[in-house]
Amino acid sequence: MPSTAVLECQGLSAGYGGTVVCRGLDITVRSGEVVALIGANGAGKSTTMLTVAGELAPISGRVSVLGSDKRASLATLAKRGLSYVTEERSVIMGLTTADNLRLAGVSAEAACAVFPELRALLGRPAGLLSGGEQQMLTLARALVRNPKLLLADELSLGLAPQIVARLLDVVRAAADTENLGVLLVEQHVRQVLRVADRVYVMRRGQVMLEGTAAEIGADLDAVQRAYLSSG
Ligand code: ATP
Repeated sequence: MPSTAVLECQGLSAGYGGTVVCRGLDITVRSGEVVALIGANGAGKSTTMLTVAGELAPISGRVSVLGSDKRASLATLAKRGLSYVTEERSVIMGLTTADNLRLAGVSAEAACAVFPELRALLGRPAGLLSGGEQQMLTLARALVRNPKLLLADELSLGLAPQIVARLLDVVRAAADTENLGVLLVEQHVRQVLRVADRVYVMRRGQVMLEGTAAEIGADLDAVQRAYLSSG
C-alpha cells in the first residue's frame, strides 16, 4: 500500500525578504519514511525547514504539509500534526524535567516510555541536564504528541556520537512504529545514512542529488567531495 505524502515541495523557492536562498526544490516525505537533507554549511537546509514549518513564506512554488498547501503558521501546523525541533535547547532551564513536561501538557510516563533515560532525571532542573539529555527531553516532548511529520534541524548539534545515535534510533523507531514521516537535517552524514530511507543532497540552495541512503552511502566519498565541502 503506498503511504501518504506528509510533505511535498514542488519547485519551491525560499529565502529572506527579497533574497532567494533556495531554488526549485522538489522534496517529498511519506508517512513512515525518514528523509535526510544534507549539505555543507549555508546550503539552505535550515531555510528549507523554516519554510516547511510555516515560519518563512515561500517565494514561489508549492509546499504541501499534511495534505494542505494553504500557507499556515507553525502553531496551526502543529495542531495538525507537525512537530519542529531544532538544535536550540527549547527546554526551560530553571524548571525540572517533570515540570517541563507538565508545562507542555505531556505526561511524564509517556515521555519516559520514549526515553527511559528521563525517569531518573524527572526531579532535576533541566539546566543541569547534559546537552544530550536536554535533547532527549525535547524529542520525547515532541514524539509523545504523535506527530505525523517531524522536522528535526540539527537536533544533535555538538553532541557526542553515541547520543547522536541514540536520538536518531528513537526517531527511526517512531517512523517504523508510529508511521511518522521525518525530514532530518544532520551534519553527521554516516549516522544519518544508517537511519534514513532517502537522502537529498543540497548545495547552494538547490537539490543536486537524491537517492536512497544505500545509493548515497555507496558513493559517499564522491558525494562528500562534490557537495559537502564548504564553498
Ligand atoms: P548551516 O548548516 O550552516 O545551518 P544551512 O544549509 O542550514 O547551513 P541556511 O541556514 O539555510 O543553510 O542558510 C542558507 C543561506 O541563507 C546562507 O547564505 C545564509 O547566510 C542565508 N541566511 C540564513 N538566515 C538568514 C536570514 N535570517 N536572513 C538573511 N539570510 C539568511
